[in-house]
Amino acid sequence: MLTAVVGINWGDEGKGRMVDWLSSDYDVICRYQGGNNAGHTVVNEKGKFILNLLPSGILRDNTVNVMGNGMVIDIEHLCGEIARLKEKGVNITPDKLKISDKAFICMPYHKQQDILEEERLADKKYGSTRRGIAPVYGDKYMKKGIRMGDLLFPETLRDKVAGILEWKNITLQGYGHEFSLNDVMRWINEFGKPLLPFITDTTEYLMSAVRDNKNIMFEAQLGALRDIDYGIYPFTTSSQTLAAYAPIGAGIPGVKLDQVIGIMKAYSSCVGEGPFTAELFGEEASVLREAGAEYGAATGRPRRVGGFDIPASRYGVKMQGADVLALTKLDVLSYMDKIPVCVAYEIDGERCDSFPTGDRLLKAKPVYEYLDGFKTDISKCRTPGDLPEAALKYIRFIEEAVGCPIKYVSVGPSREDYIEL
Ligand code: GDP
Repeated sequence: MLTAVVGINWGDEGKGRMVDWLSSDYDVICRYQGGNNAGHTVVNEKGKFILNLLPSGILRDNTVNVMGNGMVIDIEHLCGEIARLKEKGVNITPDKLKISDKAFICMPYHKQQDILEEERLADKKYGSTRRGIAPVYGDKYMKKGIRMGDLLFPETLRDKVAGILEWKNITLQGYGHEFSLNDVMRWINEFGKPLLPFITDTTEYLMSAVRDNKNIMFEAQLGALRDIDYGIYPFTTSSQTLAAYAPIGAGIPGVKLDQVIGIMKAYSSCVGEGPFTAELFGEEASVLREAGAEYGAATGRPRRVGGFDIPASRYGVKMQGADVLALTKLDVLSYMDKIPVCVAYEIDGERCDSFPTGDRLLKAKPVYEYLDGFKTDISKCRTPGDLPEAALKYIRFIEEAVGCPIKYVSVGPSREDYIEL
């Protein structure tokens, strides 16, 4: 069984927790895009973990975790993440973690370039997490990247880095900065060496796993609306967050997925800049933000929040090709008398039911309707029968609106806090 677990919205849908729970049925968990610019939060019996780079299956004893070629890896950050897990008793060996030799290294100058560019943009910034993700993907397509596999060939690595650094410094000098080859090589040696045992040809590994009928899960970062091609460009991430890209970014482009599980949140949140039509403001927003603890896992930034957005989520479901959905954080809405739902947009005085891209989206205003609240703690509910009628109605309403069955409802952050419909 090859399954992709992907975000339907702007990210932060609670994918980490769902992957952690679903992963018990899977032998292999792969990350296939992105870097440490977002975070998954997983709570289990070992504690609370924030994973920025490592696949969520890393917390399970018998799961193999793959960091695919579609990823960009800040090796310093990865070493830190591995060390923090080890401190909490999570054992990480080369049998358990496999890093693609084709994944790109996010270098110190990428991070610096990201920071300098956001500063230069000032109030026109994109809301980058300043972790170097856009510059490293940019360099990948400019064919000026260093890949994890390059670390295995120290005899040619220095020359390779020297050539790229000469080019990169031309750009950085424009910002009044420069990197020395010795400093960059010191950094590579310090944080690259501990990772050498994990670097491998993940294509070969995954092809054999497919041959052996292993269950493989592909874990996405962020959501459909952040996809570089199909999202709210340029307020997107720099990689492909869609399920269709999962086999390519993991290392087995020739296989077809059996199933796509979309993770969709019971309300909306969006971190950073860009159009966010359903946004709520003032008291209504701050109460929802606190109730849902909507602060960035990677950056701690307060997230913008809004009611469930039907045009955006319906589009997300289509772009992901979702077969089933998991609706998360329904418990967060327990305090509401009336639940706000953005049912359509209004653009230039006309109702719009589809999700517009480009500048039309900037003009969109939300059309809100209100559904009855359930006004009761649902976090202990474990079967559909335990849920109040108003909660079931809410679930059915959005299920119909987005056109895809909701199979799971999550009512709390822990593994067992869910209901199967
Ligand atoms: P991800 O990147 O999609 O995994 O999203 P986040 O890391 O932002 O995770 C969402 C946050 O909500 C984490 O703190 C989770 O522990 C928490 N969470 C996930 N599902 C639920 C849920 O159903 N209810 C509540 N109350 N919290 C949840």
